[in-house]
Amino acid sequence: MEKAKRVLLKLSGEALAGPAGKGFDEATVKAVARQVKPSAEEGVEIGVVIGGGNFWRGRSSNAIDRPKADQIGMLATVMNCIYVSEIFRSEGMDTEIFTPFACGTMTKLFSKDAANQCFREGKVVFFAGGTGHPYFSTDTGIVLRAIEMEADIILLAKAVDGVYDSDPRTNPDAKKYDTVSIGEVIEKKLAVVDLTASIMCMENHMPMAVFGLGEKDSIRKAMKGDITGTVVTV
Ligand code: UDP
Repeated sequence: MEKAKRVLLKLSGEALAGPAGKGFDEATVKAVARQVKPSAEEGVEIGVVIGGGNFWRGRSSNAIDRPKADQIGMLATVMNCIYVSEIFRSEGMDTEIFTPFACGTMTKLFSKDAANQCFREGKVVFFAGGTGHPYFSTDTGIVLRAIEMEADIILLAKAVDGVYDSDPRTNPDAKKYDTVSIGEVIEKKLAVVDLTASIMCMENHMPMAVFGLGEKDSIRKAMKGDITGTVVTV
């Protein structure tokens, strides 16, 4: 694949947690930062979206109102972005965090113009807080921001190393796709991003690439257009 000029990278919340499964694992996040840095230095414009599953999901509780539970989830993604942004800074990158709602002095309120200005300044831009609305996910959040910011591609660094025709963790005969169309992803309900996000990708022609976060140098390679997993075409 051609090297992209502007990419949006998705990290799941669990990806930050490392072996513990909860909270932050510094070594894991530093390893991600070291993979991102060379591309940032080469001038690739990099946006980052992080999930919240290492702390909380809206569907974690049936006891409280879903919109409130989702607010906690969105704030979890803000905490994740503050942490990862600081680790990126400790590795020598310049960063900015945007949220779709005001977080006082902790983040900047998202606007396309302000985010574009940060890209021009060579910053890695974090899009925290998802869409800012309940009943959505950071999958939808990243697709929305990728479309709005006119990214070339969405890079999904996952626990599984690509898109399979069935779950490779339970089916040893599962077959990995090198490329698959977004139409097929939707039709066969393949595990890439959730359905809302998939439909938005299809309608707005936003390609994605899925690869294993755990594979050596996978993020660095993906930023250069070398996809070891699956490319989702539109
Ligand atoms: N969330 C939300 N709106 C958004 C993005 C996230 O309400 O636009 C909440 C939702 O509760 C979700 C949680 O934040 O469960 C964490 O986001 P993530 O995408 O990691 O959730 P998942 O898809 O794993 O539930």
